[in-house]
Amino acid sequence: MKRNPLVKIPKEIKLKICKRCLMFYHNRKYYEFDNENIASFFRDVLKTNFSGDYKIFVNNIRETNQGKNFVFDLTLAGIFEGKLYKFSMEVPVKKESYVCSVCLKKASEYYEAIIQLRILERKKQKDLIDELLPKIQSLTKKSAFPLSRVVKVIEKKNGVDVYIGNAKIAEQISKKLSKEFGAKIKKSSSLVGQTRTGRRVYRFTYLLRF
Ligand SMILES: [Zn+2]
Repeated sequence: MKRNPLVKIPKEIKLKICKRCLMFYHNRKYYEFDNENIASFFRDVLKTNFSGDYKIFVNNIRETNQGKNFVFDLTLAGIFEGKLYKFSMEVPVKKESYVCSVCLKKASEYYEAIIQLRILERKKQKDLIDELLPKIQSLTKKSAFPLSRVVKVIEKKNGVDVYIGNAKIAEQISKKLSKEFGAKIKKSSSLVGQTRTGRRVYRFTYLLRF
């Protein structure tokens, strides 16, 4: 890296960036990873001898070291001893990947299916739910499918809605319970979105009537 007497680059610059949403964390705030915010980040981090205000432009961002580092190609323009200086420089930055609190929360509420347990006979409701819920819990825990867990349970008029992280285990559980308890299954799905790679994402509902 070329040394420039007008700028002092710290030995190690770290950028804490969320690997899910790509927002970066700086001075206790989250920022979009765009050129303008990156420029203000460097304004805080770099020490310059410019007098007064100066400009930073982000020309290019590269990832190096298998995505563990960034190299930012910056142009700085400012006044020093009455003269305008403008030059480009490459600044290496250590990437600190993490999952931000917003993404953590989203992940913890993520579900692919709902098993709706409906018990029409009022008298049986409580006992049956007390029997079914632990079964569902233990089946999700035993499963090897990713995100296989009970996310939340919501009480409904004739039973409960059980939110399940993984759709495949929800299907297996529904079939198992239907067989074991002679419940009728009604499966439905709705399109909830698309992944960045273009895969359509569905959410499944298994209505089980006991
Ligand atoms: Zn995030």
